[in-house]
Amino acid sequence: MAMESRRWIDLHMHSTASDGVYPPAKLMEIAWDRGLSAAALTDHDTVSGLDAASERARKVGLEFVNGIELAAARDRGALHILGYFINPKCPALLTLLDRIVSLRNQRNHDVIARLADLGIDIDHERLNMRAGADVIGRPHIAAELVRCGISNDMRHAFNHYLGRGKPAFIERQTVSAEEAIAVIREAGGVASLAHPSQLGCETLLELETVCHRLVSAGLTAIEVNHPDHGPRDIERFSGIAARFDLARTGGSDFHRFGPAGGHGIGFGKRRTPFSWLDLLNQRRV
Ligand code: AMP
Ligand code: FE
Ligand code: FE
Ligand code: ZN
Repeated sequence: MAMESRRWIDLHMHSTASDGVYPPAKLMEIAWDRGLSAAALTDHDTVSGLDAASERARKVGLEFVNGIELAAARDRGALHILGYFINPKCPALLTLLDRIVSLRNQRNHDVIARLADLGIDIDHERLNMRAGADVIGRPHIAAELVRCGISNDMRHAFNHYLGRGKPAFIERQTVSAEEAIAVIREAGGVASLAHPSQLGCETLLELETVCHRLVSAGLTAIEVNHPDHGPRDIERFSGIAARFDLARTGGSDFHRFGPAGGHGIGFGKRRTPFSWLDLLNQRRV
């Protein structure tokens, strides 16, 4: 495919470094094969896949953006912050990631203890080894429940054990959005509010209040294109971008192909044009 015909990008993807199924390099090959011109790897709480992804992207001719996705504290819904153009060696960033990962490990221990109370025996060390990821979370525990024959699939594992309100659900402790944004900026990056549809805001005013707070903390962009967003969401979030002078980002939030987590790399309900990356680039400080 000629470069000129490659107009689309994907700024939200997960690899085996967190809870995706493809290794970082393979993900870049798929992105190229799907005709994209640029891609960002945005694993949860880790930068460990960036080097491999960047190297393979360069080999195939894909423009690559160093990314990350951090889950921030919120009393309801999900407040996730995407970081782009980050320096993966930034000490402040690495310190923050260490802290997040140790909070996660503590939580994994608690989840495993709950499962033990239910008579389900999962060994934390074995889980870490088998998952082979740098950031272990509920999806890996779910996969383990499937492997042991307790659940037939991930959905069952979440619906019966790991999901909110289920017997082995433990709230995850994490950092504040302000801290996540500050550290992304300290690492030379720009921050984008991921899938605002998942914030749990019931009114536009509520959404604007959250955005106002994040913009004051240094937010640069908002994820307008996401598979969870319908046409009305896209309109609403584009309006927020205009109102708060935020750049727009978009991506597939790809984890795997298939019903749970597969929207296809680079594709979703709405494709994201290369021009959005150009504009995001101009916001780098
Ligand atoms: P954690 O960060 O450990 O709380 O895990 C969150 C991840 O679990 C999300 O990124 C999803 O990939 C996955 N997840 C959350 N809820 C479900 C669900 N009901 N079914 C399948 N996967 C889920
Ligand atoms: Fe995920
Ligand atoms: Fe997310
Ligand atoms: Zn994501």
